[in-house]
Amino acid sequence: MVKRIEHLGIAVENIEESIAVYESLLGATCYKEEIVESEGVRTAFIMVGESKIELLEATNEESAIAKFLTKNREGFHHVAFEVDDIDAELTRLNKEGFKLIHEIAKSGADNKRIAFLHPKSTQGMLVELCQEKSV
Ligand code: ZN
Repeated sequence: MVKRIEHLGIAVENIEESIAVYESLLGATCYKEEIVESEGVRTAFIMVGESKIELLEATNEESAIAKFLTKNREGFHHVAFEVDDIDAELTRLNKEGFKLIHEIAKSGADNKRIAFLHPKSTQGMLVELCQEKSV
């Protein structure tokens, strides 16, 4: 089951500058910065009520964020929906005909298991599913 919009991902050139801008915009403080080596991204999270803004900076040229920024300007990159059972959701969406970038959930930032859907099957929107890792 999809529970809510967990975060909006925003691709940025310089995460330190962007943190300052979003902290000022939202009147909130970035609560976590984390490098996800496997994705080649440096992330920073800021709460917006019940949801979050995730800022993403590339750490290498092969990163999806680096590739995104060669084709697009900085800005909106993906929407992340929180689900209660990511394995069940991936199975369901696969059956429904959605194209999965990750058929099996992987470890993501902010203590989450994550998987992305291909924008081709989601009206051009890059969609992330995420589930809090159980402790
Ligand atoms: Zn994300």
